[in-house]
Amino acid sequence: MFNKRTYMFLFFLFLSFILGAEQTSADDSIYKKRMSLYKKTEAVTQIPWYYIAAIDQYERNTEKDTSNEKVISISFPDELWYGLGNSAMITDQDVIAFFSGIGKDGNGDKKADPGNPEDALFTMANWLLSYGPTKDDIKIGLWHYYKRDLTVQTIMSTAKVFQQFQKLNLKDRDFPVSIKYNYSYRSTWGDRRGFGGVRIHEGTDIFAGYGTPVKSTTYGVIEMKGWNLYGGWRLGIRDINNIYHYYGHLSGYDDKIKVGQVVKPGDVLGSVGSTGYGPPGTSGKFPPHLHYGMYKDNGYSEWSFDPYPYLRKWERMARQK
Ligand SMILES: [Zn+2]
Repeated sequence: MFNKRTYMFLFFLFLSFILGAEQTSADDSIYKKRMSLYKKTEAVTQIPWYYIAAIDQYERNTEKDTSNEKVISISFPDELWYGLGNSAMITDQDVIAFFSGIGKDGNGDKKADPGNPEDALFTMANWLLSYGPTKDDIKIGLWHYYKRDLTVQTIMSTAKVFQQFQKLNLKDRDFPVSIKYNYSYRSTWGDRRGFGGVRIHEGTDIFAGYGTPVKSTTYGVIEMKGWNLYGGWRLGIRDINNIYHYYGHLSGYDDKIKVGQVVKPGDVLGSVGSTGYGPPGTSGKFPPHLHYGMYKDNGYSEWSFDPYPYLRKWERMARQK
């Protein structure tokens, strides 16, 4: 028969199952809420939902305080929303328009409230619409709003991913080299590197044999592909969390891989090699390995951070597949 400890164990197993399920349904409900707001905004402005979703996603990723998850993260500077001179922050649309503010009433309550999700999304979509409804118009509208190339690039990439997969919940991940092959890695981020002057090692090296398949870890868009003195044949993916994933020293690329292409976790990008540290084609100056780097953009600057803990997590996820 079951003893007391077994009962305790089963009880906690049951408890963690229930809590886990609750977490998942809370996630699902926020994605549903967001999607219905994006689709509603699309219906009244004709700006496709995935652009609105991508702007919101970008702003969520640049928020400093992520403790309480808001439904909508798009926020506007007060002077832009209310207009210069509307220092009393009067929410009447006509008053805002008089002061050349951009704030609009999206939910029909006669108030343009920047804290109201429908008003914020409707205002952003109208800003874009003032430049036109095509993809190129939207890109221009985004540039005039953010005045930063990397921000526009990230939003356009994220929109492309949302458009392709037609959903917001994209949490699957994979390990960057096939776990069916032999490989090894340890935490090497921040180590000093000699070649090309003193540099800091901005990534984790995963050692594996030539030809080991290299895969996308995440959902994103191929942003860069080609030769680099240090990285050899390298590749960069911009994901939907404002993170750039850098793959170095590849022996070559998969035929299907092109700049601008949408990828998902597990898509084969190329294979492990030892290219780099010389002119195009240089190979074999060090043992074959994949250099994996991660860079986060906070809306102002982009910096390298340690991929090691993420690689460990993705490795566990890959094993469970
Ligand atoms: Zn490396």
